[in-house]
Amino acid sequence: MIVMKFGGTSVEDAAAIERVAEIVRSRAADGPVVVVSAMARVTDQLLAAGKAAAAGDRDRALEFAASLRQRHLSAASELLPGTHFFNLQPALESNFKLLQDLLTGVATLHELSPRSTDCLLSFGELLSSEIVSAAFSVRGLASARVDSRECLLTDASYTKAAPLFGETGARLEARVRPLLAQQLIPVMGGFIGSTLDGVPTTIGRGGSDYSASIFGAALNAERIEIWTDVPGMMTTDPNLCSEARLIEEISFEEAAELASFGAKVLHPATLLPAIEKSIPVFVLNSRDAAGAGTCIRAHVPGNHHPVRAIAAKRHTTIVNVAGERGEIPRGFLREVLAVFDRHQCQVDIVASSQVRITLAVESDTAGPQLVADLERFAQVTSEPRQAIVSVVGENLRGRQGIAASIFGSVAAAGVNVRMISQGASEINITFVIREEDVPAAVRRLHSDLFADDQAVVHRMAASVPASRQQAVTEPVLQPEES
Ligand code: ASP
Ligand code: MG
Repeated sequence: MIVMKFGGTSVEDAAAIERVAEIVRSRAADGPVVVVSAMARVTDQLLAAGKAAAAGDRDRALEFAASLRQRHLSAASELLPGTHFFNLQPALESNFKLLQDLLTGVATLHELSPRSTDCLLSFGELLSSEIVSAAFSVRGLASARVDSRECLLTDASYTKAAPLFGETGARLEARVRPLLAQQLIPVMGGFIGSTLDGVPTTIGRGGSDYSASIFGAALNAERIEIWTDVPGMMTTDPNLCSEARLIEEISFEEAAELASFGAKVLHPATLLPAIEKSIPVFVLNSRDAAGAGTCIRAHVPGNHHPVRAIAAKRHTTIVNVAGERGEIPRGFLREVLAVFDRHQCQVDIVASSQVRITLAVESDTAGPQLVADLERFAQVTSEPRQAIVSVVGENLRGRQGIAASIFGSVAAAGVNVRMISQGASEINITFVIREEDVPAAVRRLHSDLFADDQAVVHRMAASVPASRQQAVTEPVLQPEES
């Protein structure tokens, strides 16, 4: 069996869902389990409705609900002829009724807790999975919609719940495996789950990819396909650099580094379950089903480029924490990290000297309360509007001269480097620059690192001692240590 996950834009309207049905038909013999996101922008609109309700604006909240109802019903009626639409309508309407009741309750209480947020957000995937499943059946793809809340079991950390893998696996075996045995195509919403006592949860924004991988690993899928609206993983963000190109093959380790350092194609946790079972993951374009896409798997040999890709992650803040008496007392790092942990602030890079510790963190999570907590025992300064640039590739292992060439490119772009990290992972070199410098730095790096093959060969050859040049000037460069 395989898992096929379709993102929001891949199910955004009737035409998109038509395309999904044809793509799934092309894989019918492989025993697909289909996982869908909410239709594009629906999760954001549900959140906006919840915020309006929490601010007491019930009418505005209900307007959001009405427009969501309109959009889903019109997609459903376009996809489903006459009686089929009428068969599905009650299920959709009962969801809209629940949604209205929930928003009315939130407006009455002026309160939107993380727990009610998850209940609210679950409607997006509940509705899309109903419609997609019905659309499949009408098109001769015998399908069964499965309520993911009954399969993906999580803890109770609402809005970012952690999956309970054992229980989830058992539920999938009980509910999904038998459908596959009957040659049915299970259709499930991504992103949503529930606690052991049945309270709805979500596993974090963009989490449908992660759901797909959890399901794929639990069911021992042959492969996991993530269908999206871009050709695959790219050498860098094409919005930043028009020369970005498709990566056809990439290792788990490289792709995981890219996902956690800003490549938006995949939710950062997606690969973990797949890695554990060594299940290849494909990123494919639902608007160009014949495209090659990107294959992510355990071992991919280095190619002739010195690196595989360049990622940039904006919204980063540098926090400098110094000991109060000009030195770092014992246990200081532990105490500092405990504060970040308590505020659920994600630390991406740490550097330390005799007198202070410098951390690069996600700006959204580094609020004034966190700074106040640090100031109880340390001197703190922060530098907002920074970005982390990460250069990733198996070829970086033991490659002489590559750091010099990377920082040479950054300098040539006129960009100052504020922090550097290398070594924690052998396959990336990561550094922090000002957010506004990202386009210049990335473009320059990309043109230097992905120049046409001959130029790369020459530059790399020039950066290693003559005694090793022979190996490096071979047409296909291999990592020097492997
Ligand atoms: N619909 C959810 C979101 O927008 C989950 C997902 O699309 O992956 O975050
Ligand atoms: Mg996504």
